[in-house]
Amino acid sequence: MRGTGDGRIGIGFDIHRLEPTADGGIVLGGVAIPCPYRTVAHSDGDVVLHALCDALLGAVAGGDLGELFPDTEAAHAGRDSADFVRIVRARPELAPFRLVNLDVNIVAQEPRLGPHKPAIRRRLGELFALAPDRVGVKARSHEHVDAVGERRAVLCHAAVLLAPATG
Ligand code: MG
Repeated sequence: MRGTGDGRIGIGFDIHRLEPTADGGIVLGGVAIPCPYRTVAHSDGDVVLHALCDALLGAVAGGDLGELFPDTEAAHAGRDSADFVRIVRARPELAPFRLVNLDVNIVAQEPRLGPHKPAIRRRLGELFALAPDRVGVKARSHEHVDAVGERRAVLCHAAVLLAPATG
């Protein structure tokens, strides 16, 4: 049997450019956040879900999101990244495991994320079938330096822990 007996750890990262726009908004962790920016992305540009999908795939050496959902395919244009989460969670490589917890660092100069953290945490709990005490959401600015600090990008780091599904 494959994948039983020990746990797995996975890390993920994603960054998307931001563009100013009058009636904008970005999606982080499956939560729509109104702001005067939009992400430049083929899908909905949700760096949190993209980083988490890569962390899950990485934990089982299952490739990465770009391999599963090439940004050259029209079918993925504007796609809700919650779809990516559902498809990744159903991958056969992950079947021998259960997700123990997840943890993310979201880095954005703007919008300020503090008020949105509870909603993001709730939504991640739904999407990944985890209790609230197993969903870590941290958010910080980039201290006005580099692309994120200059409001030209938003990024996310993610980590996940998997344990054998049984035993
Ligand atoms: Mg992405």
